[in-house]
Amino acid sequence: MQTAKITAIDRIRTTTDGEGVTTLVVFASCPLRCAYCINPFTWDTDIDKFKDMSVEQLYNELKIDSLYFLATGGGVCFGGGEPLLNHSFIREFIDTYKEEGWKYNMETSLSVKREFLDDVINDIDHFFVDSKDMDKNRYELYTKGNYDLFYENLMYLKDTIGPERITVRVPIIPEFHKHEEYKENAELLKSLGFKHIQVFHYVIPETRKKISQKAIDNKNEFLAKIKE
Ligand code: SF4
Repeated sequence: MQTAKITAIDRIRTTTDGEGVTTLVVFASCPLRCAYCINPFTWDTDIDKFKDMSVEQLYNELKIDSLYFLATGGGVCFGGGEPLLNHSFIREFIDTYKEEGWKYNMETSLSVKREFLDDVINDIDHFFVDSKDMDKNRYELYTKGNYDLFYENLMYLKDTIGPERITVRVPIIPEFHKHEEYKENAELLKSLGFKHIQVFHYVIPETRKKISQKAIDNKNEFLAKIKE
């Protein structure tokens, strides 16, 4: 049985992770380094402090809300970090407990190898894609990731499952998006055929919670670059 490092399980959520009552499962590890990362503990060195959880242990934590899931059309949302880094674990979980009748959603940056996405693509009811930015230079500056990898996965996802099962989130990032770049991002997504586009104001995490020195250094490096 597979195991995964899970940093949090957030129960009885409504409206943010899809239809009905959902439980968010927060996986550790992320390939990106967003300047204003909401969960920098997922890439800090103290990630090892999180215990490995088996598929069965996770199920035992989640099943307490099964009646709510079934009554409301809700279920489980896999988030992170980057949940697709744990695609094998998720694959086994869905296969093992498919008789439960729960819905499965996923919040992902899509910044992963194609085969990770392929492993679960047909079993996730709805994908919430965190787009960050649709401009290659801005995306790579903000995330330190590879825009082409993200973009190709995004288009592949749409072409494979269709736009109805995808919501693309478009953040307005303080200090970065000063000239309504979000409008360009949303317009481009619309022209590419996406139907569900959620523009939202990003709240800088350190205004809400303490973050690590590593995350602060990452943010300061980004701020210095955008001032240049
Ligand atoms: S995608 Fe960005 S914000 Fe989300 S966990 Fe990874 S680095 Fe943090």
